Amino acid sequence: MLTLDHHPSGRHFLQIPGPSPVPDRILRAMSLPTIDHRGPEFGALGLKVLAGLKQVFQTEHPVVVYPASGTGAWEAALANVCSPGDQLLMVETGHFATLWKKLAERLGLQPEFITLPGTCAQTGLPNAWRHGVPAERIAERLKADTGHAIKAVCVVHNETSTGVTSDIAAVRRAIDAAGHPALLMVDSISGLASAEFRHDAWGVDVTVSGSQKGLMLPPGISFNALSPKALAAARTATLPKAFWAWDEIVEMNQSGYWPYTPNTNLLYGLHEALDMILGQGLDVIFARHQRWAAGVRAAVQAWGLPIQCADPAVYSPVLTGVVTPEGVDADALRKLIHTRFDLSLGTGLGKVKGRMFRIGHLGDCNDLTLMAALSGCEMGLKLAGVPLAGSGVAAAIAHFAAHPAPTAG
Ligand SMILES: *Cc1c(COP(=O)(O)O)cnc(C)c1O
Repeated sequence: MLTLDHHPSGRHFLQIPGPSPVPDRILRAMSLPTIDHRGPEFGALGLKVLAGLKQVFQTEHPVVVYPASGTGAWEAALANVCSPGDQLLMVETGHFATLWKKLAERLGLQPEFITLPGTCAQTGLPNAWRHGVPAERIAERLKADTGHAIKAVCVVHNETSTGVTSDIAAVRRAIDAAGHPALLMVDSISGLASAEFRHDAWGVDVTVSGSQKGLMLPPGISFNALSPKALAAARTATLPKAFWAWDEIVEMNQSGYWPYTPNTNLLYGLHEALDMILGQGLDVIFARHQRWAAGVRAAVQAWGLPIQCADPAVYSPVLTGVVTPEGVDADALRKLIHTRFDLSLGTGLGKVKGRMFRIGHLGDCNDLTLMAALSGCEMGLKLAGVPLAGSGVAAAIAHFAAHPAPTAG
């Protein structure tokens, strides 16, 4: 823990699945003086970051930037396209899907939660929190909605509380197969710029994202990527919207400015992040995250601990959820690891609190930072008296050695 009178030597290992470590290049870029947000230099910066963001979301359409955490962008997405009492179809994939649903309820909307029933016999965890979105259940439910009362289908692309991704293109196909006009709204707050994501090609109407995960920025800005259909829906939707309203922002963004004071220094950081990400190429970045994830899973499997994601087809490239044995408090383990090794791991959230911890492997990592994190986990597990089947560290070394990193494009 960083306090004024405590200066641990060496770097803290921030291995939670967001905020992710901020590269020095980005920190330096953010330390430049704040400029006039109505002046000529600002417009050039605005146009550049907005164009770069479109490339990262893989869209031709506007991306709105808010000076808010991801939660603000969740609210913005709903407030722009919904009218009071609108029905939504959501899927319980974990804690973040649950929070988005609660937020929808507080806005006066009527979300319906599709959930996978039951509990896993091996881990005792809810099945819904170990799987991705079942697209066929969405198709079924939409077919039954003959009056087209459901306004939008809202799903989480990379469920950060579980380490499970969802097949967004399959959700689009399910909506189309049902011949239903619902909008497709996707939370890719922790997926963007780490896990493959294609806003236009996958037919997403609103993508919600944030700065502090794959984009390697500090928390504080968040995004709505839009489709023409979402922009059209916003024109007739009647939930009150002022600060979040897309129309004024999109209008002023055409010249690189905002209707209010934007988060100038975070935009400097975003400019730098986009330069790093687009310079390396999204495909290289996606492959890199998949490779890290495979190395971390090799370690977890060698320990003999269950990976929270029960479906190998949707393992998250961003983080891995590790289930602790019954009777081992995962939060006590995390605390021990933090105290002894200055390594932060993600806590179990909501229904899996105390039963699992999360290893983030996103953004500004490399093989050796991940090896350090896995060493911290293995030492901590041993200190906590957890019986391990074998050495995860040795397994990860073997994995990374046998699978050289793809070279940067
Ligand atoms: C981090 C995260 C959020 C919440 O974003 P905040 O910036 O904390 O408001 C929402 N959804 C997912 C999937 C996330 O990973």
